[in-house]
Amino acid sequence: MSVTDREAGPLAQAGAPLAPSGTSEVSEASGTSTTSTTSATSATSGRILVPYGQGRIRGLGADELGAHGAAMDRLVALGLPVVPGLTVPAGAAASLCEPDTAEAAVALVEQLSGRRIGDRARPLLLRLSASAPTDIAGLPPDLACLGVSPARADDLCAVIGREDALYEVWAATVRMIAEYALDVPGAVLDDALLDTPGPRARVEVLLSLVAEHGSRPFPDDPAQQLALAARALLGRWDAPRARRSRRAQRLPADLAVALHVQALRIGPADHSGYGTAVSRDPETGRLSPRGTFFRGVRRSAPPPHTGEPLDRLAGGTALLEHSLVTLERHLRAPVSVDFEVRDDEISLLAASAQVRPPLRASVCLAADLAQEGALGREEAVRRVTPAQVQELLHPQLRLTGGEEFLTRGLPASPGAATGAVVLSSERALELAADGTRVVLVAAETTPADVPGMLASAAVLTGSGGVASHAAVVARGAGKPAVCGAEGLRVDQAAGTVRFGERVVREGDAVSLDGRTGAVYAGTLSVSVAGPPPELSTLLQWADGMRRLGVRVNADTAAEVDTALALGAEGVGLCRTEHQFLGERLPLIRRVLLAADPTARDEALLALEHAQHEDFHALLAAVGNRPVTVRLLDAPLHEFLPAPGQALDAAEEQRAAALREANPMLGLRGVRLALLHERLYPAQAEALFTAWTDVAATGVRPDLEVMVPLVSLPEELAAAAAYVRDAAAAVAARTGVEVPYRLGTMIETPRAALLAGELAEHAEFFSFGTNDLTQLTYGFSRDDVERQVLTAYQERGFLTASPFARLDPHGVGALVDLAAERARSVRPGIKLGVCGEHGGDPESIAFCDDLGLDYVSCSAHRVPVARMAAAHSALRERRDESGSTR
Ligand code: PEP
Ligand code: MG
Repeated sequence: MSVTDREAGPLAQAGAPLAPSGTSEVSEASGTSTTSTTSATSATSGRILVPYGQGRIRGLGADELGAHGAAMDRLVALGLPVVPGLTVPAGAAASLCEPDTAEAAVALVEQLSGRRIGDRARPLLLRLSASAPTDIAGLPPDLACLGVSPARADDLCAVIGREDALYEVWAATVRMIAEYALDVPGAVLDDALLDTPGPRARVEVLLSLVAEHGSRPFPDDPAQQLALAARALLGRWDAPRARRSRRAQRLPADLAVALHVQALRIGPADHSGYGTAVSRDPETGRLSPRGTFFRGVRRSAPPPHTGEPLDRLAGGTALLEHSLVTLERHLRAPVSVDFEVRDDEISLLAASAQVRPPLRASVCLAADLAQEGALGREEAVRRVTPAQVQELLHPQLRLTGGEEFLTRGLPASPGAATGAVVLSSERALELAADGTRVVLVAAETTPADVPGMLASAAVLTGSGGVASHAAVVARGAGKPAVCGAEGLRVDQAAGTVRFGERVVREGDAVSLDGRTGAVYAGTLSVSVAGPPPELSTLLQWADGMRRLGVRVNADTAAEVDTALALGAEGVGLCRTEHQFLGERLPLIRRVLLAADPTARDEALLALEHAQHEDFHALLAAVGNRPVTVRLLDAPLHEFLPAPGQALDAAEEQRAAALREANPMLGLRGVRLALLHERLYPAQAEALFTAWTDVAATGVRPDLEVMVPLVSLPEELAAAAAYVRDAAAAVAARTGVEVPYRLGTMIETPRAALLAGELAEHAEFFSFGTNDLTQLTYGFSRDDVERQVLTAYQERGFLTASPFARLDPHGVGALVDLAAERARSVRPGIKLGVCGEHGGDPESIAFCDDLGLDYVSCSAHRVPVARMAAAHSALRERRDESGSTR
């Protein structure tokens, strides 16, 4: 947007954000005090020539003053310095073509600026512009350098110290006056200018063309020039092309414009110029003017060079800062201004709220304004969306448009990373140990891949969705991940991965964006700046506004530490099977594949020891907060050795006997515990013992023990008995009665329907909406997203994956029904959600509406969930009050 365009920016519009509702306007008195010029207006021209800052006093608004005149009025009312100038209101604009009015305008601007045209020491020229009541396209360009004559030009150039600076702008002005006011055919002007290099020569050619073809010679007198310039601007505004443009914008073809005559104070290029600035540093979001500064005479067209940074502006940034702060407080937005510097003083030419301010700037401003009391805290919190919280928390790819796109998959875990492609966990561990950043690329991942995933900068898979193993693990670890990438084929033997036709070798660099699902070739630049501290302030305020609790899905003490730092109130789901990943995998495998009861008991003992260690660390990290530990839910396909990878033929035989066609519907969750009757007691004893050990240090975690994948009340009753017996055994051994609540996950439609019966055995429910979605739709959470859901979204059957956004009509209805049935049996039963939906803002609002107690999500989504829960509560408040503020 050019300087001229911006002069009619949002600030300048009628009813513009300079006076937002709820803000007290600056008094007229302060407006008049900066422009005590009323005496300058003659009796005849007083109604026609309105100095900046005098419009409202005379009862004129943007319709008469134009967007620019109204904006100048408001800036003056705010006590800000503006370029001296006046407006000829719409409807009266044509009178500026009259010699008398033009003369009065020249005299008035001379008086306003304290300079005189023709003065050698402090020279003055004029600039004429037009503006409509609102910001529109197609306004004629400004005409500057009015008041120059060939005789005075060299003196002016001597003051500026640069010849071209003046002549370039002057040439553009003469060109337009020649065509639109002095009737020189445009084609004649264009032909002559084609071969004329240098702005000085162009002015000479233009003046001689006017002398030869024009209706009269080009005048030297400033007032006559101004009158002609007004005729030229209005002529151009009235030209058929401009009228067509207005029709295209659905504006009246005869829309009237206001004209503005501004002082163009000429000074040495070293000390004067013009520029644009925004109020905040886009990288930090902090108040710190950033922008560009150009030396010399202000042009209408964008300057041909890039300008200089603002800090070269002698003594200027401090003055700008005052104006920017004032404007920010008034507009309650990061702002941008166009300004001019003369005599080491700054005057504003235009100001507006930034159209698309950098996120950091908006967030920091919201916090700053609320700290100063200029904005309510609720409003400040409302201004930061959960999606923006996510954006601030994670690194982003800096795209330039020139990158090589490889493929797109599901945005499974936010953030961005670059690294060398590795095709196995082993290779990931090997290279990462040498300090190489790697991206693990696999068809899909299993628990055996977890160490490799944790060593990688990011994960990319060809199958699986947002609730798949790779996605869940990556989100938990805070690593970016893209799953189900289109056309991705891994060829382990060749050491390559195909993205459609494009082949990438192991070791080649790729970059991926877990927020958009895009994958690129090569090493792209990644912005890694962490969130600004102001975000923590806003999140703390948000915490005070929400009803819904926010917990974390965390399996290890390290994850708990991360989540607590991000504001989690406790652990809503510890998946104990995740404690048997990587090196620990053999422990659970030995239980599953034990050849006989003795071997199984030995394996269980080892498992119990390992669990005791894990639970001790977990509970110590949790402290006195709530923690829900889920007993083992180990889908067999994730834990059995792949065919051919068993220790020996006998083990392979036992593994083969356990392999299932539909493992997610097979021997999972509580079912496994009922067949392996020592499994849950071993886990529960390890847990209760760990609690007593931790309690001995003075910490008393609020323990909840949870049974997974229940469908029958009998399953829950049996599992509850194991847990109760384990608690009794620990009490007998240690003398400590561990306080705990026993609950169940609601993950199957039957469990939801039988919630009343289940509530008789359960003190809390946690809705496992991943499995509940899988089983309600009959959509495999690992298989369906890439093809079926993509096709369904393309056809408009679904607007989002139900694994990412809770389906309110089916799955959500089951949650609603289960909550109601459970509450009817056990009023006040604690209810939470721990599926991936617990980190999705829309799903969080749904849970809030149902009156659930908390949501639980992966650590790095906790701040997003905190903000989403606050927004949901604020939305309810707004609905209740019926107000929109
Ligand atoms: C769920 O099903 O929603 C859940 C949290 O359990 P998991 O993802 O471990 O199956
Ligand atoms: Mg589940």
